[in-house]
Amino acid sequence: MTITSPGTESVVHPSLIDTEQRVFWTDQPGAPEPEPPLLARTVADLVIIGGGFTGLWTAICAKDEDPSLDVLLLEAATIAHGGSGRNGGFISASLTHGIAHGEALWPREMGDLLRLGRENLQQIAGFVAAEGIDASLTLVGKTAIALTPHAVQQLPTMRDQHVRWGEDVELLDQQAMQADVHSPTYLGGLRVRSGGGLMDPARLSWGLKAAALRRGVRIHEGTPVLSLSAQGEDSVVVRTPAAEVRARRVVLATNGFRPLLKRLRWRVLPIYDHVLVTEPLTTTQWSSIGWQQEQGLTDTGNQFHYYRRTPDGRILWGGYDAIYYRGNRTDPSLEDRPTSHSLLARQFFDTFPQLAGLRFTHKWAGLIDSTSRFTPVIGTAMNGRLAYAVGYTGLGTAASRFGALTMLDLLAGRRTERTELEIVRRKPFPFPPEPLRYPLVQFTRSRLAREDVTGRRGLWLSTLDRLGLGFNS
Ligand SMILES: Cc1cc2nc3c(=O)[nH]c(=O)nc-3n(C[C@H](O)[C@H](O)[C@H](O)COP(=O)(O)OP(=O)(O)OC[C@H]3O[C@@H](n4cnc5c(N)ncnc54)[C@H](O)[C@@H]3O)c2cc1C
Repeated sequence: MTITSPGTESVVHPSLIDTEQRVFWTDQPGAPEPEPPLLARTVADLVIIGGGFTGLWTAICAKDEDPSLDVLLLEAATIAHGGSGRNGGFISASLTHGIAHGEALWPREMGDLLRLGRENLQQIAGFVAAEGIDASLTLVGKTAIALTPHAVQQLPTMRDQHVRWGEDVELLDQQAMQADVHSPTYLGGLRVRSGGGLMDPARLSWGLKAAALRRGVRIHEGTPVLSLSAQGEDSVVVRTPAAEVRARRVVLATNGFRPLLKRLRWRVLPIYDHVLVTEPLTTTQWSSIGWQQEQGLTDTGNQFHYYRRTPDGRILWGGYDAIYYRGNRTDPSLEDRPTSHSLLARQFFDTFPQLAGLRFTHKWAGLIDSTSRFTPVIGTAMNGRLAYAVGYTGLGTAASRFGALTMLDLLAGRRTERTELEIVRRKPFPFPPEPLRYPLVQFTRSRLAREDVTGRRGLWLSTLDRLGLGFNS
């Protein structure tokens, strides 16, 4: 949580005057040419719907498992259009929402979840190196920062939880925290050196696309899937604007976008998350804030910021103001929300007043697919012919590969360590329908914000905790 001060208004307004509504990552040179849309009727062994990390990893892993499989990936827009090309670029081994969340919800499985998550991240790093993907992946860890006295009090517990599970962490008091990154708002922090790092999400998406094409995956961009239906004993008809595909198996990797399977509307809440990117900082500006280790930074509150240096010397600053629109509404017009971007800018200059005068070049928002327990819902439909993995709740840049592998297990009818996990077998609690959903989400947000200020969880959040609902990130 950042305390906002009206004095920064004269700094905030000019910082946003020339800011373009564009995603910084996909605005870089080097984007591959889009593959042509699907225009003619076809058949495939496996059709994957959605060209983000989940869809791309599913395609690559399916081909690595069986190169003779005919795999077709259909993407409504372009590869990296969704969360996969517009996220903060934090990459984490966690398959839960961090250690405290995992311990609270899956205490018996926590050891396995951590091991599988760490293996997954290592395999991603190995793949990126082996395929020569230039995604600026560095496993530098991150620092979680306490901005209130009650957040400082929680740091030793957080440290102990991390140590218990073998993470490399260091508790930083106010002086040590401010010596590392210079902000007057910092009261302490936890430097976590293991378990993750940073990458360039668009370049990772583009690299995975190239790896999929090299393996013979057929990709069609500009091809929204309109509907699906089971046909006969063993196939699914996938309808797109120009042509139909008859598929033996289908994977749904569409994140928080309008789901093609009705049941997912109960389990997944589309939430818009907002991001700003600054112009490149000068050497003097960088030395005014320190940050030599170049790790990712987050604050420890419920409504938290995530921020990082970009490979070309800017700051990406996002999070805090997560917005749900009534009726699960999603629409590109919702990505431009001036109040959220101004709030983010104000909080940025509260954190780094020494950067007054710096301008933001890019602003955008993206869809996060939230479930009631903050981890994905993975399962099958249509008698095992279709698998889905959605609901990463803003922590899916690495977990999406785990989702992909689990879907392939499920489609093959294999019982594996992954498919037997409770986190996979048990579905998250459904959200109530509208008109109840919107006020309940708003009420829960207000309780989370209040906890950030007071440090008290309160009756509503404690009740949700007891029910195993994971609104504590
Ligand atoms: C602003 C923001 C910041 C984030 N920061 C982080 C972070 O720092 N670290 C982290 O781990 N996670 C982060 N996330 C979450 C992370 O980006 C996602 O969990 C992850 O990218 C999910 O990948 P995906 O493939 O499931 O979904 P997406 O990347 O969203 O891909 C889904 C694709 O499906 C396509 N699609 C949808 N409907 C159809 C249809 N009917 N037919 C065909 N195609 C369709 C979409 O166009 C889209 O390209 C962030 C997300 C956002 C939005």
